[in-house]
Amino acid sequence: MIILVVNSGSSSLKFQLLNMNDESIMAKGVLEKIGLPDSIFTLKYQNESHTEVSAIANHEAAVEIMLNALLSHEAIGLKSLEDINAVGHRVVQGGDSFDRAVIINDEIKQQISDYAVMAPLHNPAHLAGIEACAKSMPNTPQIAVFDTAFQQTMEPSAYVYGLPYELAQKHKIRRYGAHGTSHKYVSHEAAGFLGKPIEELKIITCHLGNGSSIAAVEHGKAIDISMGFTPHEGLLMGTRCGDIDATAVLYLMQRENLTAAEMDTMLNKQSGLLGISGVSSDFRDLDNAIAEGNERAKLAKDIFIRRVKKYIGSYAALMNGVDAIVFTAGIGENGWDVREAICSDLDFLGVKIDVEKNKCRGKLVDFSTDDAKVRCIVVPTNEELAIATEAAELIKK
Ligand code: AMP
Repeated sequence: MIILVVNSGSSSLKFQLLNMNDESIMAKGVLEKIGLPDSIFTLKYQNESHTEVSAIANHEAAVEIMLNALLSHEAIGLKSLEDINAVGHRVVQGGDSFDRAVIINDEIKQQISDYAVMAPLHNPAHLAGIEACAKSMPNTPQIAVFDTAFQQTMEPSAYVYGLPYELAQKHKIRRYGAHGTSHKYVSHEAAGFLGKPIEELKIITCHLGNGSSIAAVEHGKAIDISMGFTPHEGLLMGTRCGDIDATAVLYLMQRENLTAAEMDTMLNKQSGLLGISGVSSDFRDLDNAIAEGNERAKLAKDIFIRRVKKYIGSYAALMNGVDAIVFTAGIGENGWDVREAICSDLDFLGVKIDVEKNKCRGKLVDFSTDDAKVRCIVVPTNEELAIATEAAELIKK
């Protein structure tokens, strides 16, 4: 079975073609700067890598270029578009309507469009990718895999905010969370690695990347997640400030005469690691600045670490303990010093790490000591494979 995974953003479209018989990647690539005269198309397969710079007018053109390229390189092994059994689309916001992947029809498209108010940068871009793929492959099932689906198992006590109830319901304001596909994938991978059924485990999954979130996964079900109504809440992120007293936002708007749009930009694009350090949203740049003695870069990193620790503590409390803490995404997989700092002084919980084993990047490893009660594990995330797996399972049904 061959599945094409598409992650369509406002100006980019990432894709991966997977052979699900052995979960191998047949080809992958990205079309960037869509809509600009110097769009970039990168295609990788086997040991080949091709890059082309030319204008790509819109998502429809991007999909056409992607499909032509997949067909024209014989070594990829795709003979016809008919060989693609389904296209799995990443969709960031599915509100409270979707607790699993679905085959897209007009009604589903309308719902994705309706939820664009909560994900204005993402959902319209996903729809553009969905429409373009459906046009080029009218007989191929298009499947939506929602980043919000996994955590739809949360109880109201986890997702209801302390706002006037009817008003919150009217405007669908609640915790939806994000990164669900990754949290689901790494929690299942961790259970498999530990050789235990996920139904018997209490797992805290830390997806630490440019966007970061933590989930409490009890017996295979997400019972809480740090991201909220939008992917802004929770941890300190590259450019998002995460948890903040809401009245500080109102105060700043009044004091600086900021519009809602300006405040939104500040909270989502100019805050977080970038806002505090004044250097960068990227951990590698922060580390370089820290090495040069930059105090604010150090402060940004310290706040990041502290907040992850706070969430781990609170989720362990919610689950009355934890069997495994999983680290994934760019920082979680690579930043071993960050992992070490997060896991230090958590011995009251049963966390004990082997600092030497922890000094690794980007690979599956249990870095706890043999006698530790809680397993600390790095699990590289693979959202494309997770999307392809969900799509394949759905069409098999
Ligand atoms: P992601 O959004 O998952 O791609 O993660 C991006 C974040 O991971 C950025 O802050 C990067 O600086 C960080 N990252 C990637 N590689 C490394 C590394 N080798 N060491 C520390 N942080 C890294």
